[in-house]
Amino acid sequence: MGEFELIRQYFMPLARLHGPHSILVGPGDDCAVQRVPSDSDLVFSIDTLVEGVHFPLDYRPDYLGWRALAVATSDLAAMGAEPVSYTLALTLPEADEAWLCGLASGLGKAADAFGLMLAGGDTTRGPLVLSIQVHGLVPRGAAILRSGARPGDLVVVSGTLGDAGAALGYLESRSGVDAQSSFADEAFVLERYHHPVPRLGLGAGLRGLATSAIDISDGLLADLGHILEASSVGANIERARVPVSAALTRLKGVESLDYALHSGDDYELCATIPEADWMGAPSLLKQQFTVIGVVEAAPGLRLDGAAVGSESDAIGFDHFRREL
Ligand code: ADP
Ligand code: MG
Repeated sequence: MGEFELIRQYFMPLARLHGPHSILVGPGDDCAVQRVPSDSDLVFSIDTLVEGVHFPLDYRPDYLGWRALAVATSDLAAMGAEPVSYTLALTLPEADEAWLCGLASGLGKAADAFGLMLAGGDTTRGPLVLSIQVHGLVPRGAAILRSGARPGDLVVVSGTLGDAGAALGYLESRSGVDAQSSFADEAFVLERYHHPVPRLGLGAGLRGLATSAIDISDGLLADLGHILEASSVGANIERARVPVSAALTRLKGVESLDYALHSGDDYELCATIPEADWMGAPSLLKQQFTVIGVVEAAPGLRLDGAAVGSESDAIGFDHFRREL
């Protein structure tokens, strides 16, 4: 199967338009064309996934398609942007049709779920690598940055943390295992790894409320650290408030908090919000976040008042460290 046949068969169908759309030209020309409304800003980001580094060897292609698009789209959620389109740069060792069919299926399901259209891409031969660039829109000036956190703001996180990190352990110890695990708790955390859901609605809901936001890809402490650094502030987090799922607690006991603090891959959001704005926020939004601490003027991250030193960092990160 040639390059163009492969693109036509597996990727062109992902470029279908649903109703009115701002993509004027999709795959097939030299570039895609996206119209940007004059009252919006274009928000875009690219993510690369390398086999054996960012996903396991022989990982199910439909899971890979979902996960790759979800991970990229999560950055749009963290900025408060609405997704529009994506491009896919695919490097493949061979044109395995069953594999391509699985990848396209996972990409298609994720794109439908998140509201994205494939606008173009590039296809080459080589070791398996996927790069996905996502494009979204925010009302002019409304993108939520990492740099706006101020002392006194509350630190909030969505969902529960640590599930996907625990799943990674199961995937690594028994390669080839899938979500059909006989243990419901193990299946729950594996599903969190295989099918992360970018918190698009929550990110959009944070516009005008949050002073900063980030998606948790590398672990709460690491990613909150990026906000604190960009904002030139510090924070204190209360361990007991960090949300952990019942499944993770049953699987990992007292260790579950280590997963929640240090492991990534959950793609939940962490944001800072002035207390008065939090009080006045819609209860539907508030229900989906947990307040875990407060931003402080003194730089650095504290857990229950004690500085998170490089030593205690290392203890956690050694277990969960991923490359890049
Ligand atoms: P060019 O040589 O002009 O850069 P290419 O030959 O790389 O164009 O691609 C031809 C067309 O096919 C382009 O419109 C490109 O966006 C699209 N395309 C290539 N690979 C993919 C892919 N994996 N998914 C979607 N579209 C693709
Ligand atoms: Mg060209």
